[in-house]
Amino acid sequence: MDTMTWHDKAEALSFRTQAFINGHFVDSASGETFEIINPATGHLLAHVARCTDQDVELAVRAARQAFENRVWCGLPPAERKAILLNYAKLIDEHKEEFALLESLDMGKPISDAMGYDAPATARCVQWNAEAIDKVYDEVAPVTEGALALVTREALGVVAAIVPWNFPTVMAAWKIGPALATGNSVIVKPSEKSPLTAILLADLAKQAGIPAGVFQVLPGFGHEAGQALALHNDVDCITFTGSTAVGKKLLSFAGESNLKRAFMECGGKSPHIVHHDVKDMEKAAATAASAICYNQGEVCTAGSRLLVHSSIKDEFIELVKKYMANWQPADPLESDTRVGAIVDATQYERVLSYINIGQSEGATLAYGGKPVMGHTDGFFIQPALFTDVTPDMSIYKEEIFGPVLCVTSFDSIDEAIQLANDSEYGLAAGIWTSDMSTAIKCSRALRAGTVFVNNWDGGDMTMPFGGYKQSGNGRDKSLHALHKYTEVKSTWIELD
Ligand code: NAD
Repeated sequence: MDTMTWHDKAEALSFRTQAFINGHFVDSASGETFEIINPATGHLLAHVARCTDQDVELAVRAARQAFENRVWCGLPPAERKAILLNYAKLIDEHKEEFALLESLDMGKPISDAMGYDAPATARCVQWNAEAIDKVYDEVAPVTEGALALVTREALGVVAAIVPWNFPTVMAAWKIGPALATGNSVIVKPSEKSPLTAILLADLAKQAGIPAGVFQVLPGFGHEAGQALALHNDVDCITFTGSTAVGKKLLSFAGESNLKRAFMECGGKSPHIVHHDVKDMEKAAATAASAICYNQGEVCTAGSRLLVHSSIKDEFIELVKKYMANWQPADPLESDTRVGAIVDATQYERVLSYINIGQSEGATLAYGGKPVMGHTDGFFIQPALFTDVTPDMSIYKEEIFGPVLCVTSFDSIDEAIQLANDSEYGLAAGIWTSDMSTAIKCSRALRAGTVFVNNWDGGDMTMPFGGYKQSGNGRDKSLHALHKYTEVKSTWIELD
C-alpha cells in the first residue's frame, strides 16, 4: 500500500526545466531562465529555460526538416497510431507526476489533476491515435472521363500556444490531432505553468516520436510566443488563451504568411435556471461547482447565473449552501476542492473585480475574501454577487476566478436575450423539465456548447470551441483532426 502523502511525493519529485529542441533537452540560446513560483506557498519551484526568437528559429528549422524528410507524415497512419498509442500509455503511466507538477505549478487541487487533467491528456492522445487509420479521403462524383480525388495532407509546422488553467489538457487538445495527422508540432506553454509540457516532451521522445516532430519552447508570450506567431515558416498557429491575445495572433498571422490561425478564447458563460427546474438541489449544486471548480479558472465557467424571478430567493440560498462546500485549502491534500489562484497578478485581478462589483452596486451575498493568510499563497473564497445588472463590468467581463454574478428574468425570451448579451459565446446552460423549452433555448443560445440539465457534460467525441469572440476553431472530435490538414483536389484525366 502507498503510504506516502502527496507532500512526500512532491518533496521527492525531480523534473526537467529545459527546452526540448530537435530531440534534445537544451538551455535557451541566451542561457536565460525565468522563475516558477508555487502559488500555494509563494515558494520558488524552479528556474525554467526562457526561449526567445533564437530558440524559435532552431525549433522551426528542425520542425520543417522533419516534415520535409517525411519521417513522421510519411509513415503509414497505422504506424503513427502505434507510436501515439505508446505515447498515451506512457502519459497514463506518469499520471501522478503530471498531476503533481500541475498542482505545484498552477495551484489546482491534486485530486482534480489526478481525476481529470492527467487521464484526459492520455485519453486525448489515445483517441486521436485510434482515429487516424479510420478516416478516409474522398472521390468526387464527376464525369466518367476523370477521377477526382479530394485528399487531406498535414499542414506542416504547427505552433501550439497554450494557457495555464489546464496546461496539459489544453496542450493535448492540439498535440493529439496535429501529431496524428502528421504535422511537426512546437508547443509554447504558458510562462505560468511550463513543467508538464516539458514532461510531455520527455515522454514523446521515449515513445519514439522522431526528433523535430515534437518540440517544447518554454518562455513568455511576447517573446517565444510572438516569434512563433510571426514566423514565416510556421504553417499554423493553434491557440488557447484570452481573447485579447487571440486577436493579436490573428493579426500576426495576417502580417506574416497568412498561416492558419485557430483561436480558442475566453468566455462569460450564462447558466439559466427556469422556474420548472426538476431538481433544484442538483441545479444549485451544479451552479456552485460551475464557478468554483479549478478556482473558477475555467474558460467555460458558469459565471453568469440567470434565475427565474419566481424561484430566485430560494435558489440563491441553495447556491450559497453549496458554495460553502468549496473552501480553499492546501492543493496537495486529497480532499481539497479549491486550490490557489495561479499567481499574484491573477489574485489581484480577481480581488479587484470583487471590489468593482461592490462599487458598481451589486450585493456581495457570499464569500469573496482572501483566505489562508498563514500561507504566502494566493487563496480566495468563492464569491457570489446578487443584484447584478447587465451594464456592470462584473456581468460583462471575464474575471477568470471564482466570482458568480446572479441576475433574474421573467420570461424565457428575456433569459435568452440576457444570455446572448455578451461579446463571448463559449458555453451556455439551461435547467428546465420542459424539453421544448430546452430545445428552443439551445437553438437560440449563441454558444459553441449548450448544456441541458447539466454543466460541463461532454467527451472527446464532441467539438469544443466558441461563437463570437470566444474563438474561431474547434478542439476535440474529428472536427479538430481535420483542421490540422489542407484539402487537396486532384483531377486525373482518363484516356
Ligand atoms: P493568455 O492569453 O494570457 O496566454 C495564453 C498563451 O498565450 C500563453 O502561453 C502566453 O504566453 C501566450 N501569449 C501571451 N501574449 C502573447 C503574444 N503577444 N504573442 C504570442 N503569445 C502570447 O491567457 P491565459 O491567461 O494563459 O489563459 C486564460 C485565458 O484562456 C482565459 O481567457 C480563458 O477563457 C482562456 N481559455 C480558453 C479556453 C477555450 O478552449 N476556449 C480554454 C482554456 C482557457
